[in-house]
Amino acid sequence: MRLHEYQAKEIFADAGLPVPDADLADTVGDAVVAAERIGYPVAIKAQVHVGGRGKAGGIELAESEEEAREAAESILGMDLKGYTVNRVLVEAAVDFVDELYVGITMDRGAGRPVAMVSTRGGVDIEEVAAESPEDITREGVDPAFGLHPYQARRAVYGAGVAREVAHDVAGVLTTLYDLWNARDATEAEINPLMITSDEAVVAADAVMNVDDDALFRQPDLEAMETDSYEDDLERKAGEYGFDYVRLDGDVGIIGNGAGLVMTTLDLVDYYGGEPANFLDIGGGAQADRVANALDMVFSDPNVEAVVFNIFGGITRGDEVARGINDALERFDEIPKEVVVRLAGTNAEEGMEILNTDLVEVEGTLEDAVRRAVENAEEVSA
Ligand code: GDP
Ligand code: MN
Repeated sequence: MRLHEYQAKEIFADAGLPVPDADLADTVGDAVVAAERIGYPVAIKAQVHVGGRGKAGGIELAESEEEAREAAESILGMDLKGYTVNRVLVEAAVDFVDELYVGITMDRGAGRPVAMVSTRGGVDIEEVAAESPEDITREGVDPAFGLHPYQARRAVYGAGVAREVAHDVAGVLTTLYDLWNARDATEAEINPLMITSDEAVVAADAVMNVDDDALFRQPDLEAMETDSYEDDLERKAGEYGFDYVRLDGDVGIIGNGAGLVMTTLDLVDYYGGEPANFLDIGGGAQADRVANALDMVFSDPNVEAVVFNIFGGITRGDEVARGINDALERFDEIPKEVVVRLAGTNAEEGMEILNTDLVEVEGTLEDAVRRAVENAEEVSA
């Protein structure tokens, strides 16, 4: 479960981390009221689950009531990488001289948490990690003892953080670790941690992911989920009973079986495409489930082409093919090219039954994926 910035900041504030004064707003009027209360300048920030909101136009600074109104008008309702912005966080803008990165995540290789610090805050930390990993200091944490203060200091000084603020930054890092641990987080990150001209540190952004399997013992976080569950596609997937994960690419993927879908994702990547989602419709392929799955990928604005990877097992290939035909006939038009690969029991019979007016059929998974990647490229060309 990924918290919104405003939710993560509430949790951070409760733990004693320094966050700007802020209010949440879902109308332009409320945003202006919030700005007036807080005082200018304010930062108005889209509350959607995408990174890089700044660059994408989801964050604006406002110096006056008029600017606050204009900023709220342009951000509320906007489409940010496929997500509609329904809420903005209006907060006191920070006048900063430096932007740091601090974060806690799980180091799966080492099998323990890791605390990280970098003076290259404010930019995508994955980019920093790829280009110049030496700009990030890391301290592995023994969960039995937590992050020792000396480790926090070593990470902070090692990253080259200015001496004047090093003590406070180290304090933020240890508090962040304790929070990560107490809240069953998989990730807790402040990017940027802003340093002001009078040497104060402020968490200008907040990211927190919580382990879904631990939500039963984090009831207050679990309760937050209901009102933050605003990705329509993921909600739909929940209603349909699908395992679904939305990704950044443009090739929609549907399969019956998690392994089958993962393989398809890998192949899409291998052939130079980018998967738009993981979607496992589970065993069988009855017309209803197929239609629901198609409805999902068709309604994702990022999807340019679809690949359907079905393995006929107990549900035979010919039944699967009838299900796919029935499902496709329910759509007045097929908005995106669909390629089907059918394997397993009665695959041959199934492929003959598939209505090639509605779908493209390929005999092998490789061919199907290549075709779908090409279809997506043609659409975006
Ligand atoms: P993200 O792009 O989604 O990670 O959103 P952030 O909250 O990290 O903001 C991105 C960038 O916007 C920051 O690195 C700052 O440069 C700028 N920004 C955000 N909040 C403020 C603020 O309060 N004051 C100022 N001056 N800039 C801000
Ligand atoms: Mn950020």
